[in-house]
Amino acid sequence: MEIDEAREVRTTCPYCGVGCGVLAKVAADGEVSVRGDPSHPANFGRLCSKGSALAETIDLDGRLLHPEIHGRRAGWDEALDLVASTFSQTIAEHGPDAVAFYVSGQLLTEDYYVANKLMKGFVGSANIDTNSRLCMASSVAGHRRAFGSDTVPGTYEDLELADLIVLVGSNLAWCHPVLYQRIAAAREKRPEMKVVLVDPRRTMTADIADMHLAIAPDGDVALFTGLLAYLGRHNALDRAYITAHTTGFGQALFAASVLDLAGVAAATGLSEDELDRFYSLFAATSKTVTVYSQGVNQSSSGTDKVNAIINCHLATGRIGSPGAGPFSVTGQPNAMGGREVGGMANMLAAHMEIENPEHRDRMQRFWTAPAIAERPGLKAVEMFQAVADGRIKALWIMATNPVDSMPDADAVEAAIKACPFVVVSDVLARTDTVRHAHIRLPAAAWGEKDGTVTNSERRISRQRAFLDLPGEARPDWQVVAEVGKRMGFAEAFSYASPSEVFAEHAALSGFENDGARDFDIGAYAGVDAEGYEELAPFQWPAPSPVTPLWPKGGRTTGHQPIRFFADGNFYTPDRKARFIAIRPAVETRTSLDYPLILNTGRIRDHWHTMTRTGKSPRLSQHIAEPFVEIHPADAQRFGIGDADIARVSSPRGDVLVRALVTARQRQGSLFAPMHWTDQFAAKGRLDALTAPLTDPVSGQPALKHVAARIEKFAAKAFGFAVMRQRPTPDTATYWAVAKCKGGWRVELAFADDDIDWAGFAGALFGTPPGAEILAYHDRDAGQHRIAAFDGDHLSGALFVAPGPVAVSRGWAAEQLNADHVDRRGRLAIVAGRPGGVDVDRGAIVCSCFGVGANQIAQAVRGGCASVEAIGAALHAGTNCGSCRAEIRIIVDAQILQAAE
Ligand code: SF4
Repeated sequence: MEIDEAREVRTTCPYCGVGCGVLAKVAADGEVSVRGDPSHPANFGRLCSKGSALAETIDLDGRLLHPEIHGRRAGWDEALDLVASTFSQTIAEHGPDAVAFYVSGQLLTEDYYVANKLMKGFVGSANIDTNSRLCMASSVAGHRRAFGSDTVPGTYEDLELADLIVLVGSNLAWCHPVLYQRIAAAREKRPEMKVVLVDPRRTMTADIADMHLAIAPDGDVALFTGLLAYLGRHNALDRAYITAHTTGFGQALFAASVLDLAGVAAATGLSEDELDRFYSLFAATSKTVTVYSQGVNQSSSGTDKVNAIINCHLATGRIGSPGAGPFSVTGQPNAMGGREVGGMANMLAAHMEIENPEHRDRMQRFWTAPAIAERPGLKAVEMFQAVADGRIKALWIMATNPVDSMPDADAVEAAIKACPFVVVSDVLARTDTVRHAHIRLPAAAWGEKDGTVTNSERRISRQRAFLDLPGEARPDWQVVAEVGKRMGFAEAFSYASPSEVFAEHAALSGFENDGARDFDIGAYAGVDAEGYEELAPFQWPAPSPVTPLWPKGGRTTGHQPIRFFADGNFYTPDRKARFIAIRPAVETRTSLDYPLILNTGRIRDHWHTMTRTGKSPRLSQHIAEPFVEIHPADAQRFGIGDADIARVSSPRGDVLVRALVTARQRQGSLFAPMHWTDQFAAKGRLDALTAPLTDPVSGQPALKHVAARIEKFAAKAFGFAVMRQRPTPDTATYWAVAKCKGGWRVELAFADDDIDWAGFAGALFGTPPGAEILAYHDRDAGQHRIAAFDGDHLSGALFVAPGPVAVSRGWAAEQLNADHVDRRGRLAIVAGRPGGVDVDRGAIVCSCFGVGANQIAQAVRGGCASVEAIGAALHAGTNCGSCRAEIRIIVDAQILQAAE
């Protein structure tokens, strides 16, 4: 591919479902830079910390560059022939349901489309499911129950137009930062706008909240059924809307009224006063948007939570109008695209239903397919259970890492290991899943592949290549199509480009549609390669008009947002929305052995299993190791001190993580992030603890409500080290590595302190012969510090202490990039303290400008009394803005401290 080096390429961010536009540029020396696309309607130029650091994640270090069969390098033809023949043979011997694809919201729509077509139309099974099942399947199920279609009614603009935003189970500040910034900016312009945060934890999103409801885990159904009952009792219903456009209201209200206010308070853990204030605010504010994400979806009652929320919007007629509606925001960049092409086991492409014989017939005719899946396939959790018990004998995993991200992850790993034939398509040569593959297929990465993605507001944008494909990597759509051809379906899979796939996908959406189905982008059915190249971001629906909708070079800034259901018509047979009768049920999963509830989630600067963000020094400095948040009262009860290493266990497994004692955590609950894998920590795979318990309607796992216990890991010694080479610190019971500029840093804890520390340091640093070693040992105090210098450069420094090591991490890591010519400077490293004028920046808060907590505190003491003043003084918070909430907390704490 010819890349125009001088040109900025318009593409989209590959991380969250906000779907921000990115301008990427390759300089003459090959250096890549990115910035937010000012014309993209999702972000208007903004990017969060992850998006801003994209250029740091695209090196070829660790890439899988050639196909491999049983660990040996192979040619594409040999690998593809083997995949096709083994799948064909397995189907011939055991039937189509003996094979499965497990795919990903990281795939582009074109990849997804081809994989779904092969499985559902040509293999004849619906055994294709996606890691989006773990992310938003409950929203899909809730939409379909209420609207008769999987439709997100609103747009991002509604978040700016609303007078009240209710954020439920959604840490927008860290997980959808650009949407958070859009809300924060709107609120600054209109201070009368109110924000309510419903979350068991006081997350960073609380920074913009007027009210934080620290709800009990899974108390959301009770909260929103209680709200429906309140609206009924206080005559706050839109009766005309209910009558004209809905059915089932009476039953829903009856079911919701089972709890009185005291009952709702008991089920939610909130006071009656808190409930009353929230309910009266909701009742009085017509322009209300309720935003929800994983805290709602990842639950054994996720679909009921979604419908309990939608019920309240239907009951007040607040849907389909500017500034009003329920709004599911997706985690992954293309979860929505996957839904559109039937990437889930219980749907057909183009939002058609697998249970509907007319839809199946239409699908089969459109594809001229030899077969069509006749019943839903296995959803993610069921799929890996079928792999475990031998029903699935050939499995193809694309662009995802289920050994780390699936619930009951150890059982999933065992199932994959035992599966007779496992193919993995990935960009990396080493992940916890790739290591078990019989066939490894090198996939094109972000920046190398071409296609489309759909964001949470139904906006379809291009991802464009700006880098050449490295080694023998290929785009996924092409690889799946090649396998399809080799399985005997050459005509159906003879695509020459992703534009041909997209055109077919668009044609299918409009095929025999006539407004009967929500998903229709028929206007793009005739798009050619040139039109596809120029495709500007657009929202669906875009049904076929007389003139095509892809004016060459056209941009859509200023384009009017499209809302669904403005006319009160839905996609049910009678065009009326359905209220769902939901009874709140209070479930207790804790026991004497496992008395706490573990909530799992994400952090600001890492993405999923860190296969990309783990490459970025900038992103790795914000939080560099796995941790568990625990309330101070629980910490005292279980003998956990701040910065101790804690063992968190469930009936399925355990992890070793750093303890973070904080009152932002709810008492009785723990929170830990899901990002760490065996590649980055000794024992940090959090999903080894989660259970394969799913929502009965959506099949989505309950990843936020795990019965757990916590105990202190009685470490005899703690360590911290920085070094140039990637370490393998197997002697330590606890370790967590993170990239830093010029090398790596590692946190350590040891069950035993009878260790040859000099030998350990030598192995850790890979100390070259002739290196100068400086060491300090105080064996009685258990203190050891060792530094190795290769010429003027630091090869590594190790700090060991009997308790958590008190060395400035940022300062120590910076020493890898400094010249160390004078002895005083070298001795300062062994002392573990910045010498002379060096400032200990403290924990990094602003990743963009590398500003630490100590610098911010110092600036506050120097007179900076606001986030804006800190920005002016230190630049912190002035680029992506993802750290502004943390800066505000430090500013407030310093001001409070000064006043005491
Ligand atoms: Fe990417 Fe951040 Fe935008 Fe999400 S909010 S799409 S992670 S830049």
